[in-house]
Amino acid sequence: MILVKEAQKIILEKLQPLEPEKIPLLNAVGSVLQEDIYAKRDNPPADNSAMDGYALRFNDISSLDQNYPASLKVVEDIPAGQKPSKSIHSGEASRIMTGALVPDGADTVVMVEDTEKKNGSVLILKPQKGGSHVRKKGEDFKKGDLLLSKGNLVTPSNIAIIATAGCAKLSVTRKPVVAILSTGDELVDVDAKAEDHQIVNSNSYLLASQVLESGAKPMILGIVRDRKDDIKEKLKSADKADIIITSGGVSVGDYDFVKDAIQDLGSEIVFWKIAMKPGKPLTFSMLSKRPLFGLPGNPVSSFVSFEQFVRPAIRKMSGHADLFRKTIRATLTENIKKKNDGRRHFLRSALTYNNGSYSVTVLSGQGSNMLASLASANSLLIVPESETELKSGQQVEVQVLRN
Ligand code: AMP
Ligand code: MG
Repeated sequence: MILVKEAQKIILEKLQPLEPEKIPLLNAVGSVLQEDIYAKRDNPPADNSAMDGYALRFNDISSLDQNYPASLKVVEDIPAGQKPSKSIHSGEASRIMTGALVPDGADTVVMVEDTEKKNGSVLILKPQKGGSHVRKKGEDFKKGDLLLSKGNLVTPSNIAIIATAGCAKLSVTRKPVVAILSTGDELVDVDAKAEDHQIVNSNSYLLASQVLESGAKPMILGIVRDRKDDIKEKLKSADKADIIITSGGVSVGDYDFVKDAIQDLGSEIVFWKIAMKPGKPLTFSMLSKRPLFGLPGNPVSSFVSFEQFVRPAIRKMSGHADLFRKTIRATLTENIKKKNDGRRHFLRSALTYNNGSYSVTVLSGQGSNMLASLASANSLLIVPESETELKSGQQVEVQVLRN
């Protein structure tokens, strides 16, 4: 058995970010940028109006003191998206919409609420501040500015600046394709009628959704029976994948053939068995230079070992800098006993935030086959290898599964 941290180190040392690819902007959301994005022009590109109102020369109204209203002749209507055709001279104004270019000669926009229309003129009803409601050319950023540098994640909050920079395609780290193979004679598809001796293949869906959530692309290879040759054939068919996950068949049962199949294909088992619970029999190998994770079949074992090992691998290959789930300190609400087995235990738990601090409760039903507690868990309470007991009120480490 090797320690969780050691296993993570061994895996991650073998992996590198995938090559960059140039893809349409929207497909790049969630990917890591592989180019610096520079501004091709100023933003705004020219002075434009922040309000629906009237563009005018502040000089025309500044000397009025309290003698309002002022009357100015309206010379043009400027909707957004249209170039002004008239300059503003003394005594004149143009009707202007939000986002429209401020015409030459004008330096101030008065919002429509402070005006009144009258026979081709506009009355300015109140004193104004010079230069108000004009968005200045380049006030957001200037041509040539570095907007976003390589290594940043493409997100909803920064995609607008990328689009404004005119980048229809982006160079990002390619997302890994992850092949998922479920092994087991007892397995049937989700839409089949399952008899009592059969189990619905939930792991393909579980693992594929974890792959998606990790930012990679699942490739479901379906179910394979517990026959070494069939497993070998299926593993060979995964040659388009960047990562391979199998579920089941890595324990010491008479029908556990995944390790044999890997070795038959000429690959070494880098390690087998990790000091953790659930997930102990995890097998790691490099099959034709691609990482292969042989996860144990119990759904919770699959889930927990994916989170500890496959997710960080996907994130490293996707070019991310932060690879691991966040952990936080929380107050334990009960006493917990653990066998002196030298293993790190991951308990499905409910993390809550109350009056400025976190507390954590272990959910009932911790068998590695039990799905109900997995469905309601928002976190995994970590009981370190060396501990045999955690006490109510104690600060413990909790891995956060969702926000
Ligand atoms: P194994 O690791 O193959 O010994 O399987 C351990 C347990 O996990 C058995 O009870 C299996 O029925 C169950 N199991 C294996 N594969 C799957 C799967 N794809 N979906 C749901 N349960 C599974
Ligand atoms: Mg099996």
